[in-house]
Amino acid sequence: MHRREFLATIAGGERQGGERSIFVIQKHAARTLHYDFRLEVDGVLKSWAVPKGPSTDPRVKRLAVPTEDHPLEYAQFEGAIPGGQYGAGTVLVWDTGTYRNLKEEDPDYEPMSMADALASGLVAVWLEGHKLRGGYALVRTGRGEDNRWLLIKMKDEGADARRNPVSTQPESVLTGQTTEEIAAEPS
Ligand code: MN
Repeated sequence: MHRREFLATIAGGERQGGERSIFVIQKHAARTLHYDFRLEVDGVLKSWAVPKGPSTDPRVKRLAVPTEDHPLEYAQFEGAIPGGQYGAGTVLVWDTGTYRNLKEEDPDYEPMSMADALASGLVAVWLEGHKLRGGYALVRTGRGEDNRWLLIKMKDEGADARRNPVSTQPESVLTGQTTEEIAAEPS
């Protein structure tokens, strides 16, 4: 599928013209449950594993451990990964949509491309998803062997300390299925 069709598919009518990049958060029930937070940057999906998933409460900092880049097409993947294979378990598309790089447009920041923002250890993006909206910051707290980041909701209209979408909206935004329903499907 071409990038343009793909964007139209996942973002529906919510795109407002212009070139937007995609984000996806895949709930991955592997050996340990985690949420793979992925941002399209220069044609690949930059990825972090977030054990507790994203929060909508700006006071909450969620550990985000960088993982390997994935191809853009992987953003649509949902299904079971057979036992014995890397990542064995089930994957569902917990949220997806488009994002903007706040460091390119917000006067509070030194203007930076996403690649430069990643290298700087401070990424600030505005998500337009189905479950998540608004600004999120990814902040690097360690280097080398201790390459850890924190995922933090920024204070804006998308912030809500009482919402807990990881718990209250566990289903796929593509199919409405839960992890259990995907796992029960014949493969
Ligand atoms: Mn994973």
